[in-house]
Amino acid sequence: GPMTVGDLARLLRREASEVIKKLMSLGTMATINQEIDVDTISLVSEEFGAKVKVKEVIDESAFEELEEEDTPEELKERPPVVTIMGHVDHGKTTLLDRIRETKVTAGEAGGITQHIGAYQVEANDKKITFLDTPGHAAFTTMRARGAEVTDITILVVAADDGVKPQTVEAINHAKAAEVPIIVAVNKMDKPEANPDRVKQQLTEHELIPEDWGGETIFVPVSAVTGDGIDELLEMILLVAEVQEYKANPDKRARGVVIEAELDKGRGAVARLLVQNGTLNVGDALVAGSFFGKVRAMINDRGQRVKSADPSTPVEVLGLSDVPEAGDPFMVFTDEKKARDIAEKRIEKKRQKELGASSRVTLDDLYKQIQEGDMKDLNVIIKADVQGSAEALRGSFEKIDVEGVRVHIVHSGVGAITESDVTLASASNAIIVGFNVRPEPQARVTAEQENVDIRLHRVIYDAIEEIESAMKGMLDPEY
Ligand code: GDP
Repeated sequence: GPMTVGDLARLLRREASEVIKKLMSLGTMATINQEIDVDTISLVSEEFGAKVKVKEVIDESAFEELEEEDTPEELKERPPVVTIMGHVDHGKTTLLDRIRETKVTAGEAGGITQHIGAYQVEANDKKITFLDTPGHAAFTTMRARGAEVTDITILVVAADDGVKPQTVEAINHAKAAEVPIIVAVNKMDKPEANPDRVKQQLTEHELIPEDWGGETIFVPVSAVTGDGIDELLEMILLVAEVQEYKANPDKRARGVVIEAELDKGRGAVARLLVQNGTLNVGDALVAGSFFGKVRAMINDRGQRVKSADPSTPVEVLGLSDVPEAGDPFMVFTDEKKARDIAEKRIEKKRQKELGASSRVTLDDLYKQIQEGDMKDLNVIIKADVQGSAEALRGSFEKIDVEGVRVHIVHSGVGAITESDVTLASASNAIIVGFNVRPEPQARVTAEQENVDIRLHRVIYDAIEEIESAMKGMLDPEY
């Protein structure tokens, strides 16, 4: 929630009276329980020599509060939303193209397909929505911005190449998001294809095939010949049936921005995925912090449409500015209300920050543990060699302080990448680097996203740091 003078004093490790005095010297009279805004917090913190990072997060819950609840009778089945992930060159793009070609144009000879960030196909008279940007980077960037878009992940593994580092990353990203995984064993047309090896390797990551007594669906496919694509789509529908994805099409729409750009001729163009309700031409909406009125909508076949129901991607013209991928959007009954909300959200976006959406840092870990709002400390490990990564994982997992456990979201070998930072941001994790450094872009993103990166050269030091942070013995870093 909002931050009070007392909260700030605790964070700064100062007496409340000192903070109040400082506020007075800045011309503000305040009491210990008074709420203070972000600008004041930054100002006071700087006076005490502490740097405050303001994180620009738009919390989707702000919209959820405004949304009417759906009764069970109002909820209707909606198409599943699918993301394709996997190692580079294992065939993600080819698979996406193949599915689109074979299914979108069926019965619609020469149907123009348009890139709008996602597309829908039909199989067995049911629809499936695919997000068009393959890979876990896009997936987790959305999550880091608070958007849970994907229902099902297709993990593509090339049968001739097997499990690779980015395969493991993709698994961990999907697991962190608690999204079901279907494995597509691709390139089955190749003579050197070895699907059993893929199965064997994936069991090490707790993806056990059904025919080996596990629960993970494996589908052999070839994105090039098209073999197995129908089975893959059937399996997606099967998972969707079990999970019962539902939404209420009979109300104003809410969803998420998949992409947006400024188009010279058309102005702000936003590609949206409707998650609940139905979006109509003429609707007044807020996307991110921008107001807009839907002037026109274009579907994934390049056709103008008047409405878009749940799980449908559409391109929307008429926003006042370009929102960001992952921003939530919502329709409001009247234009004035939408404008007001857009303004409030800009304000709120600035004010929310330091409270609920602040990241875990080791420095305030103890406080959070004391307040009982953390049971797992999420950690991402990057090390120079596999042996060190394993050793750290083993040691971290053994630490048990006041009922708090370390949960390893991801561990891998190599430099700390931007993808690691995004995953940390989305999972509220800290990153421990052992004999590795962050890549330049990872450093920049970590700074922006307020992700705590700890670098070590001695395993014992890394363990001790985590342990003492959990015990609240870490010296503040001011
Ligand atoms: P991405 O990096 O995962 O998106 O992989 P691409 O879709 O770009 O595919 C990488 C390469 O593998 C390309 O040369 C594709 O033509 C090839 N490829 C993809 N799927 C298959 C397949 O099923 N069989 C064969 N033989 N080649 C494939």
